[in-house]
Amino acid sequence: MTLPSPSTHYKPDQLDIHLSEEDIQTRIREMADEINKAFANSEKLIIIAVLKGSFMFVADLIRHIKVPSQIEFVRLASYGDGQTSSGNVKPVDLSLPSLSGEDVLIVEDIIDTGLTLHFFMDYLTSLHHTRSLKLAVLLDKKEARQKEVQVDFAGFTVGNQFLVGYGLDFAGYYRNLPFIGVVKN
Ligand code: 5GP
Ligand code: MG
Repeated sequence: MTLPSPSTHYKPDQLDIHLSEEDIQTRIREMADEINKAFANSEKLIIIAVLKGSFMFVADLIRHIKVPSQIEFVRLASYGDGQTSSGNVKPVDLSLPSLSGEDVLIVEDIIDTGLTLHFFMDYLTSLHHTRSLKLAVLLDKKEARQKEVQVDFAGFTVGNQFLVGYGLDFAGYYRNLPFIGVVKN
């Protein structure tokens, strides 16, 4: 697969739309319903979004969350500028308030090898005794898993292809697209 130069702005002939804006927004509403049900008895929910990729997903998801919520952000990096997981998770910013006794929902754009989330869930559970801990991902690349991670809420199962848009980047570009696309060959 040859990707266009990342300095090239998006043109419709560069990407095939894999999930349209409407597909994404419809599924996010359904996921929010599932999350609202799962946390219906919680007084408060702490939502932790993993940056950068999940910024759009979390912004759209939380508009439909009915449990009183606090939003936190951590930043982890693993992909670099390439298209395959480096296997090397770099914690960029892990500052968080105390999560003791709290109901916590981790929000991530995509789970691929599982290395990033495995690292982060391990890190959280070793430092904080949460009341509950659940994971929501918009996209699940099930076939690529190297580390087992329990996904509680998944938007779409996707194949082993490199996706861009709706928060997902290629070398920093394409994050602002409202849909998810695959770069054309
Ligand atoms: P994992 O550690 O599970 O292999 O990968 C997690 C991270 O890799 C995601 O948060 C995301 O930043 C990046 N990633 C995985 N698959 C893709 C993809 O298809 N496209 C893009 N742009 N990033 C991906
Ligand atoms: Mg991510």
